[in-house]
Amino acid sequence: MKKTSLNRKLLISFISIILISLLITGITSTYMIDKKFNLYLLKEHEEKIDNIKTIIDSTIRKDPITPDFEGSGLTSYAISEGYVIEIFDLNNNLLYTTGMYPLMGHQSNGHMMGPMMGKMFKNMSEGYNEDTYPLDYKDEEIGRITIGYLGASNISREAMSFKLTLYQSIFISSLIAVMVSVFISIVISRQLGIPIRKITLASRKIKEGDLSTRTDIKTNIDEISELSSSINNLANTLQQQEALRNRLTSDMAHEIRTPLTTIKSHIEAFIDGIWEPTPEKLEDCYDEVARLHSLVENLDNINKLEKMNYILSKSIFRIDEELKRIVNSLIPQFSKKNLKLSLNSKAALEVFMDRDKFKQIMYNLLSNAFKYSLENGIVNVKSYIESNKLYIIVEDFGIGISPKDLPHIFEHLYRGDSSRARTTGGSGIGLTITKTLIEAHDGNIRAESEINKGTTFTIRFPLENITSKKASL
Ligand code: ADP
Repeated sequence: MKKTSLNRKLLISFISIILISLLITGITSTYMIDKKFNLYLLKEHEEKIDNIKTIIDSTIRKDPITPDFEGSGLTSYAISEGYVIEIFDLNNNLLYTTGMYPLMGHQSNGHMMGPMMGKMFKNMSEGYNEDTYPLDYKDEEIGRITIGYLGASNISREAMSFKLTLYQSIFISSLIAVMVSVFISIVISRQLGIPIRKITLASRKIKEGDLSTRTDIKTNIDEISELSSSINNLANTLQQQEALRNRLTSDMAHEIRTPLTTIKSHIEAFIDGIWEPTPEKLEDCYDEVARLHSLVENLDNINKLEKMNYILSKSIFRIDEELKRIVNSLIPQFSKKNLKLSLNSKAALEVFMDRDKFKQIMYNLLSNAFKYSLENGIVNVKSYIESNKLYIIVEDFGIGISPKDLPHIFEHLYRGDSSRARTTGGSGIGLTITKTLIEAHDGNIRAESEINKGTTFTIRFPLENITSKKASL
């Protein structure tokens, strides 16, 4: 299919619509005017014929023997209305004639034309018509009247010019309408065409990889401004994803390089006979392979994380009871490191949340507290309600997070240097999942930490988002 620009297409469509509608209005109005006008003219013609008959009638009644048609005003009426009148007696003798003068206007003296010339003129005059009426006196036919005129019915010059003026005004107004609508259609097609061209240009640039391109369109057309912001949002998302991809790739490379180097140097040492492959050395290698394995597993988790978008399956449960269950289930693990896990649960509240996801949030935070706490330490879990919000706090007194790492701990695969140095077995994905799950419940999480002093995670859920009408206590 041949492609054409939007501007052109709109312009052609507008003009065609205008021309078609003008044509239809032109035809219908001309037809209606013509019909009404002809009716009006016919009526007018009949009235004039009646007037002529009345003048003749009263002239005969005045003097039936020698009627004075000349002096009756018949001639002047015939001339003014453009009728040729002839009166004959029963023997076909011409009693009176206006001559051809009424047909010729005032330009030549038709009155002077002889009967021969008159006949010729009648034959030559295109559209000349003649009607014959009986001439009666006292209910007796005494002759006949012929009334001749030009046209189907006698159209007076004024009527003709009126009709012409009407057609002219229709034509002129159509012309003005066409010009105005061409102007308006140009304006509208520019209003639509220019922003769409800008958006197309921007999306082409984005497609070519220039993700910083944005469309800057000022328009009051809803759909175009929506299209423009969709393109901008798309560019934003692509830019974010590209940044994330870059981060992920470099993080992964960084994460994979360390265990690979360890394994490589160990195996080289075995080959060169520098080291004996003792069970301890082999176990070191195994640990590194296990780390690589868990990294690959986590890659899969990240994919799932992106895709899942956390469809929540909410149910009603008591938050204090759930917290108690979680803490109790972890006490045996914590005691292995001689860690005290205490719970101070003040929020006695029935919530409408995804129970499994809530468990996952708490397990992630508590397993970090466990990992990054020193032996014989304390981990506190608190919950309370304040300003219509549910607060849940997980507090430890472990290694802490450096100010450099703190802003990044919720990012994909981010691991603080200190935790890298300690083989905690972490992979840097737990907090990302935790944050996403909290946000899926319309809450938020914040971390405060001081190196070697400890870390506090504060979760905040607005009550209206985690309690349904059925679920508030
Ligand atoms: P990881 O599996 O490495 O623990 P997370 O996403 O759970 O991954 O945490 C990201 C990083 O945040 C960790 O590597 C660690 O440096 C830091 N971190 C998280 N929780 C704590 C905590 N309670 N104490 C100290 N550092 C923490």
